[in-house]
This record gives sequence, structure tokens and C-alpha cells, in this order.
Amino acid sequence: MKHVIDFRSDTVTKPTPAMLEAMFAAQVGDDVYGEDPTINALEAKAAAMFGMEAGLFCPSGTMTNQIAIKAHTQPLTEVICDVTAHIYQYEGGGISFNSGASVALIHGNRGKITPQQVEAHIRPADNIHFPETRLVALENTCNKGGGAFYTLPEIAAISDVCKCHNLALHLDGARVFNALVASGEDAKNYGLYFDSISICLSKGLGAPVGSVLLGTKDFIKQSKRIRKVLGGGIRQGGYLAAAGIYALDHHVERLTEDHAKAKLLEKTLLEAGYVESVLSVETNIVIFKLNEKYTDAAFVAALAQQGIAASSFGPQMIRFVTHLDISDDMLERTLEMLKKL
Ligand SMILES: *Cc1c(COP(=O)(O)O)cnc(C)c1O
Repeated sequence: MKHVIDFRSDTVTKPTPAMLEAMFAAQVGDDVYGEDPTINALEAKAAAMFGMEAGLFCPSGTMTNQIAIKAHTQPLTEVICDVTAHIYQYEGGGISFNSGASVALIHGNRGKITPQQVEAHIRPADNIHFPETRLVALENTCNKGGGAFYTLPEIAAISDVCKCHNLALHLDGARVFNALVASGEDAKNYGLYFDSISICLSKGLGAPVGSVLLGTKDFIKQSKRIRKVLGGGIRQGGYLAAAGIYALDHHVERLTEDHAKAKLLEKTLLEAGYVESVLSVETNIVIFKLNEKYTDAAFVAALAQQGIAASSFGPQMIRFVTHLDISDDMLERTLEMLKKL
């Protein structure tokens, strides 16, 4: 994929020279003994940002989500989420494999679910025919929803339903910083509503590896056990955590640039003769539907010929994701190309 303008995902970014410098300078120790000062600092920093008590550094967002689900549930219990949720669609069926829990799927709007929908999917208590509802999981921003985001009042209303029914509320916040930057809201308030939060450092924030799971001290203690069993206990991982700290300090505010670029892609696509519709762009994801002029496979191939990579996202569907490694010049060239196709 050399010299390609790569819009497939915001996971494709490489560390900047300054981030690499921070990584090389990291103080490290054996984190399975709790002795890596840089991992400890990252966990504390992320927890403080979101108004949570403690954090746990993990190799991937799949692992932080799966650990959280395992810690919140038991076999014979159930998780409520949207049908497009990453935890259900893209984690290999991990909920059944790791937790033995079942899933109640909501057909939401662009990946977003409402308090009324949550309420309607809670199983009747004291009836042995049903699994026991235990956990609700939200995704912010919603990947398959084209980067749509929840606002705090929307989250608060779902949290109210959860508290009322004694359900835990988890956030898959792989792109939560995109949501926060777009809404202008303060991360600290998230701690009021969620029992656990997973944030990814390797998406828009541009770190090479890593996610952090946030929760209460007790929850994180339990999660650390589960991480060990899953093989996620890392030793001198401080080199990676240093990239995460650098990303939190330097790469959050700049996400607005990615959002502006996504808006420009949307504008050009709306005027293109081969586009049927575009999911209104809210953050850094652009999902659009092709008309009969191209199939998704033919469109991706036509882009590839011009040195541009994008993802096929289902029949006639294409996804572009903007990120740190898409320069102004790359975007300009892409817009020109999209006008000519
Ligand atoms: C990328 C992503 C994750 C985590 O993916 P990993 O590749 O396992 O780090 C989780 N949720 C969403 C919505 C994502 O987009």
C-alpha cells in the first residue's frame, strides 16, 4: 500500500516523529507486577479525563470491550445493543465465546438507540423463560452509523433507564474523542453515566497500539484478572503507553481537521453522478451509497487505480475515514479524482 492515499480506516496512521520520540524516552517496568510507570500514568490520566476511578491499558479495543462485557455479565444474562454495534458485528462473536451471554438487538437510527427502545428490550424479571438483562452497551461515535454521535443529554436519558432497572451501562468509545470534539462536551461528565468506558488510542488519536478500559477501582481489579486470562498482560508496555499519553496531549483537538475534511468529501460526493445518497457527515466517517453506475467492488477498484484506498461497506456502500495521515494536499487530490470518476 505504498504511496496510497488511505481512507480505509483511521487505524492506518503511523506514529509521528514527535510521538516516536516520546516512545523512545519512556520509563518502563513490568506491568504485570504493576511496575510500569508510563502505563500507570496513562491509566490514571485517561481515568481522570473521563471522571472515572481507574483504568486498564490493553492491546486492542476488542479486548477492552470484551473484558468489560465479561466483567458485567454471567452466562444466562443478556446484553442490549444496536444491531450494527462493533461488539456484536466485528468482534468475532466474542460475547458468546468469552461471556456466554446472549444479545438483544435494537434496530436504532444510525447505530444510536433510544431510552424507549432500551426499556422495550429489557426482559421481564422473575420469569425463567428469559435471559436476565444485565448490560446496555452504546457506541460513540457509531462506526456503521457513519460517525453519528450521542449528545450528553441523550446518554443521560439512557443512563436513567439503566439505573432504574439496575443495569450496567458500557460505552464502546473507540471514537469517543471525535464525538466530544464535535459536540464540544466535556469528557468528565461521561463518568456520571457509564459504569465502564473503552477508549481507543490507535484510531483517530494516531497511536500505533492500545486501548484503555475505565471504571471503578473494583471493576478494574476484576478486569485485570480477565485481561491476564485473555493473554493481554503486557510487560514493558510503557513504550506503547507513551504514545497514548502523547496522543491524548496532542491529537485530540486536531480531530476537528479530520471532521472538516470529511465534510469536504461529503460535499463533493453529493454532487457526483455516481452517488445515490450520503449519510450526513457528523465526524470523520463518510458512508455513501452508489447508484447503478458502479458496484462497490468496481468503485473501490477504480479508486485503487488512482492510488486511493477506501472500504467497501456492503452492497453498493463505500466508507471513507479521514485521519491524521491525510494531508490537505492528499485530500485536494482525492476531491479532484472523485469529480472525474
Ligand atoms: C476499531 C473499533 C473497536 C476496536 O477495534 P480494535 O481493532 O480491536 O482495537 C471497537 N469499537 C469500534 C466502534 C471500533 O470502530
